[in-house]
Amino acid sequence: MDGIATIDAAAAASLEANGSGCHGGRETMLDAAARAGKSAAMDALMRDYPRGPHEQPQSMCPAFGSLRVGLRMRRVATVLCGSACCVYGLSFTARFYGARRSVGYVPFNSETLVRGQLFEDIRDAVFSLAKPQDVDAVVVINLCVPTASGVPLDLLPKSHDGVRIIGIDVPGFGVPTHAEAKDVLAAAMLRFARAEAESGPVARPGGLVDGARTLALIGEMFPVDPATIGAMIEPMGLSVAPPTPAREWRDLYGALDCAVACAIHPFYTASVREFAAAGRPVVGSAPVGLDGTADWLDAVADAAWVPGVAADAARARALGPLKAALDANRLDARITVSGYEGSELLVARLLVEAGATIPYVGTACPRTVWSDPDREWLEARGTHVQYRASLEQDLAAMRAVRPDLAIGTTPVVQKAKELGIPSVYFTNMVSARPLFGPAGVGALTAIVRAQTKGHERFARMVSFFGSEKVEA
Ligand code: SF4
Repeated sequence: MDGIATIDAAAAASLEANGSGCHGGRETMLDAAARAGKSAAMDALMRDYPRGPHEQPQSMCPAFGSLRVGLRMRRVATVLCGSACCVYGLSFTARFYGARRSVGYVPFNSETLVRGQLFEDIRDAVFSLAKPQDVDAVVVINLCVPTASGVPLDLLPKSHDGVRIIGIDVPGFGVPTHAEAKDVLAAAMLRFARAEAESGPVARPGGLVDGARTLALIGEMFPVDPATIGAMIEPMGLSVAPPTPAREWRDLYGALDCAVACAIHPFYTASVREFAAAGRPVVGSAPVGLDGTADWLDAVADAAWVPGVAADAARARALGPLKAALDANRLDARITVSGYEGSELLVARLLVEAGATIPYVGTACPRTVWSDPDREWLEARGTHVQYRASLEQDLAAMRAVRPDLAIGTTPVVQKAKELGIPSVYFTNMVSARPLFGPAGVGALTAIVRAQTKGHERFARMVSFFGSEKVEA
């Protein structure tokens, strides 16, 4: 079997025996991957997702992003291949975030890894799941050890009984955040669907407005937001294409058929490449706040060749209610924002327009051209924007700023509470609310008001529990 020959037996045995993984050292894993013939794949990941200041991810296992994208799609089976502890953690997290479907798992040990039996086991598992009456696609995700050992998912057949088979490497030592891991699978599916559409007729996507040209919105959003954007662009004769990441296979054809792709979340580097390869113009930033919405509508109108009168109508419809919402929801608070969702700069823009002062925004995601308008807008208003922010940078900023509210990741929120600073989780609270249009203004400003109102409670707690833990 050709595939078996590419597995580096010595490296595989040593990785498995040493329990290498998050704590095994990035260089060790990269060395092993290179010896196992994965250099090209690792180089491609490094180009798309340049590394940050820290060696290993500081948030949850990055592969969760790919797993989540697969689990959220109808008629798609998702299979993990990795160490049992990694798979346990990932399936636990998937349940925690509401997945109601089973996660497939192909276990291995030193022997099956070294002898190449693991590849055969994966192939058998995929074939047993690839039943066209049940699924459109089977996704296999190589975690750290199988990737570093060179398990060659690219040698799996492209389909079985008409069911597509998609194998991806998503190692923590190659994909820095779970946000970018969403892009790895989303792009692999777009690439597959693009090849299908280029070679013949494909299924008609659902939910399209007859005759309307569409915008493909890239990024997982709160469900109301695409509808809000749809209402904004309707005067331009545009509607919203099926989402990326997709919810079912035929969505992919609908997204690729768009007039313009919109990198609402700016870290989908590989997915954007697929839209560009399909000949679609790409617009960055998002319709957030007054300035952001006006600029984004202009950029969309330019890219989609919308007549001036229709573009003016869209601006008039969107901006009036937004201004009224901002006027009615003024904030007076100093806030730091840190997260790993990729929408941190958009959240900060909206809060600044509502009256907040934001000296620092940290995002675990990398800098790309698609967030440049947001970065420039924030920097012009005195905000320091830190891409690939480490936990240490987020904490240092919070200590230096002493904000009225810290919006952050779990460890940032924990530290803020120790310091008596009101704080709120970015992922569970802010990302789980609308962001665009008047609904976004109302939701976000309500969170800030609710959290800053109880400021004295935090000071009371710190004095009640004593101050020995507080490192000011
Ligand atoms: S797969 Fe995830 S949890 Fe497992 S070693 Fe890699 S980064 Fe860590």
